[in-house]
Amino acid sequence: MMLDYIIRATGANEQVRVFISYNKATVQKAREIHDTSPVASAALGRTLVVGSLMSAMLKNDSDLITIQIKGDGSIGGIVVVADNKSNVKGYVYNPDISLPLNSDGKLDVGGAIGNGFLTVIKDLGLKNPYVGQTELVSGEIAEDFTYYFTTSEQTPSAVALGVLIDTDTSVKHAGGFIVQVMPECEEGVISKLEQNIAKITSITRLFEDEKTPLDILELIFDDISYNICETRETKFECSCSRERVEKALISIGKDELIDILETDKQAELNCHFCNKKYMFNEDDINKVISNN
Ligand SMILES: [Zn+2]
Repeated sequence: MMLDYIIRATGANEQVRVFISYNKATVQKAREIHDTSPVASAALGRTLVVGSLMSAMLKNDSDLITIQIKGDGSIGGIVVVADNKSNVKGYVYNPDISLPLNSDGKLDVGGAIGNGFLTVIKDLGLKNPYVGQTELVSGEIAEDFTYYFTTSEQTPSAVALGVLIDTDTSVKHAGGFIVQVMPECEEGVISKLEQNIAKITSITRLFEDEKTPLDILELIFDDISYNICETRETKFECSCSRERVEKALISIGKDELIDILETDKQAELNCHFCNKKYMFNEDDINKVISNN
C-alpha cells in the first residue's frame, strides 16, 4: 500500500508556497478506529488532511498544532492534532451521525458541522501558545481554512480538501493542498495562480483520474516556475501512554477517585484519539491517590 505523503514546494522565486498531500491511509485508519459514518469520515478526514498539511509548516521538533472545530450541527465537534513529524490524530464528538446528501448530491459536511468556530492552537515552544480563531464560513472546512489563513494569519491562501467515500463506506481517496502567496507577490503571478486553481474544480476527481500530488502541483504551477523543497511521510499516529492517561485520572480529583474505589474498584480510560483502553485496578488507583 502506498504511504501517505506531503510535498512542500515554492514557486515564482519563493513568492508562492504550496503544500500538497495524499492521505488515504490516514483517513481510512481514522475511519476504522472511530467507526465513522460516511459524513463523519468526510468531516474528520478533511480536518486530518488540513492538519497534515499544516504540520509541514512547523519548524521545531516539539512544535504541535491543534485544530478544534465546534459548531451547532449534529457532529458536535472535531479535534485534530499534528506534530512536526507529520503524525496526525483526531476524533469527532459524534461519529455515527447520518444526514441526507446536500443539494449537490454530496455528503453534507457543512450541515453536520453547522455554525460555529474554528480554532487553531500552535504550541511552538514559547511561553504561551499561539491561538487563532475565526467564525466558520460554511462548515465545509476548506472554505473555513481559506478564511482563517486570510484573516487570522493575514496570508492569502487557497485551500482544497477532498475525501471520497466508496460505496462500501471505506475511504477511496483523501488529500488536499494549501497554496499561499507571500506579501510581496507580483500581481501577474497571483492572477496566473488564480486561473490555474480555478481549473481544479475537484481534487477527488483528479485522484479518481489517477493524478498524483505531483501532477496536481504541475497544474497549480502551470506556466509558473517552481521547486520541490521536500517530500515527507505523514500518518495517523497517536502518542498516548499510560503515564499521560494517569494524569487524566489524577485530574478527576481525590474525592472522585475514592468514590470509584468504593463503587467500581477499577477505572477504564479510553484515549479519545486512538480508542486505546487503559485499565486501572484497585492498587493502581490507591497509588494515584497516595502519590498526589
Ligand atoms: Zn491514543
